[in-house]
Amino acid sequence: MSDPSALDRVGDCPECKGILTPETIRPVPFNCPYCAKYIKPIRRPRYLWLRILVCGGVAVVTARMRGFDWSFLIFVVSFYALPVFILGT
Ligand SMILES: [Zn+2]
Repeated sequence: MSDPSALDRVGDCPECKGILTPETIRPVPFNCPYCAKYIKPIRRPRYLWLRILVCGGVAVVTARMRGFDWSFLIFVVSFYALPVFILGT
């Protein structure tokens, strides 16, 4: 019988080759539980597109609820939504 942690294996630490399980991996950058190396998960293109749509959508909906005109939304998206998207990646 093999080690149960090897069954849950989703990846290796690039530094110490330690087994990373779904419990140890975080969606945000995290430290390896074995060698404390800083690991940043790879984002898939679909995740980035979803993030763009969510950031832009939330900005437009919030601006409309606060009474901004449609023609003013280009400034809302460019000054608020884009910096939030770039800083979050
Ligand atoms: Zn490691």
